[in-house]
Amino acid sequence: ENIFRQILAKGIQESAFSVLPVQSKSGKQYNLTWYSELTFSNDRTTGTILTGVHTKEPSTTESNTLLQVAARGQAVLDNAAEAIINIGADGIITDVNKATETIFGYQASELIGHNIRCLMPEPDRGQHDHYIKRYLETGEKRIIGTGREVTGRKKDGSAVILELHITEINVHGKRSFTGVARDVSERNFARQQLKIKTEELHQTRERLAHMDRLHIASEMATGMAHELNQPLAAIAMYAQACRRLLESGKSDTKLLLDTLSHIDNQAQRAGTVIRNLRAMVNKQTPEHQPEDINVLIKNTIELALTGIDTQQVTIDCRLSATVPRIDIVYTQIQQVLLNLINNAHDALSDSPILDKRIVVSSSSDTTHVKVSVADNGDGITSKHAADIFTPFFSTKDADKGMGMGLAISRSIISDHQGVLELNTQYKFGAEFVFTLPIKSSLEDQHAGQ
Ligand code: ADP
Repeated sequence: ENIFRQILAKGIQESAFSVLPVQSKSGKQYNLTWYSELTFSNDRTTGTILTGVHTKEPSTTESNTLLQVAARGQAVLDNAAEAIINIGADGIITDVNKATETIFGYQASELIGHNIRCLMPEPDRGQHDHYIKRYLETGEKRIIGTGREVTGRKKDGSAVILELHITEINVHGKRSFTGVARDVSERNFARQQLKIKTEELHQTRERLAHMDRLHIASEMATGMAHELNQPLAAIAMYAQACRRLLESGKSDTKLLLDTLSHIDNQAQRAGTVIRNLRAMVNKQTPEHQPEDINVLIKNTIELALTGIDTQQVTIDCRLSATVPRIDIVYTQIQQVLLNLINNAHDALSDSPILDKRIVVSSSSDTTHVKVSVADNGDGITSKHAADIFTPFFSTKDADKGMGMGLAISRSIISDHQGVLELNTQYKFGAEFVFTLPIKSSLEDQHAGQ
């Protein structure tokens, strides 16, 4: 600390020189000869350059040591991987190290005494004198003291990308600049490659996202066709019934009105399906309302019966009276249930069994409401069981099944935080079960907070 104080006190007038001991890791002491010089910027001391030299033979004279310091300093400069270039305030190169020759392809002798601008491409080449002049006049720093990436110009005219740091040195009032330039062309090349790769990756991801959107759009179109099929088929059936009634001339006004209101209901349902799908496209969540699942089951069975020959197939309804109301999108859960009942009916139509039966039941525990649709058809082979929820998997004729029903149903139930599964333990045919969470009032309170 004392030495530094002395150096500071001496200021720019004199360079400091002293012999001081240092201790090595092993505890051994050496005398080092320290040569110190202050660096200035705008007449403010910015630091010191301190060189310590260990000589085996204790130095006898100051000049002897200074020579050694110079030699050591040159060795350091020459072994540096960076080009180290000193210029005067007039931009003329006063000193370069070996790496400068390697990086720029010039001999030191071709550079010393020449203006530093020979190592720059345009526009810096034509502007550099002006840069130095402006700095000397205004002290306004653009590059001094901060590292930055610049382009250098080699002897053969080619460009080299450099990371350049410039320090101003003020010795005895004489201002000069030292530039330390590292060749980062390779690092830059790697960075550019990385940029290209990242760009490619980005494009691939965009393409995939686009494909994904196409896929979703196609699934949605299929889903929409599937969901609209049922109300449209029902409307057509009711309309035919009306026509038959009118044609027969025995038109019973009450029956006609009933059938027309069925048409109305089905048209409303189709409208809701479209509204829900539109909400899905707009990323709005269709509104969840507290609903009584037993009422939903009864209404859906009524709907399903319009397409079922009740002479052939019976639908049993076993509902638990204690099932709580749950927050659902009514038409979506109805869609799921209708799909399951229709699948059960399809399975039974192909079956030779006499007492064809579909059982729809509801139950609940403390956390979930459970709905099951079971039939006594042929069931599902373990080979098919793994595929039935996959979109477009169907064992039905093309005009009867698209293979979307279970896939859509499962995604609707999972959107409701529930689970739709095939009960693989069921031995009398096929049973599909879905569970939906009961939101406790406590959770509602939390959600509202
Ligand atoms: P789709 O009914 O259009 O074929 P789904 O996704 O609803 O599409 O059903 C996929 C397949 O699952 C059906 O083709 C059928 O092989 C099988 N499946 C669904 N429900 C039953 C059932 N209750 N009994 C037997 N097989 C069924």
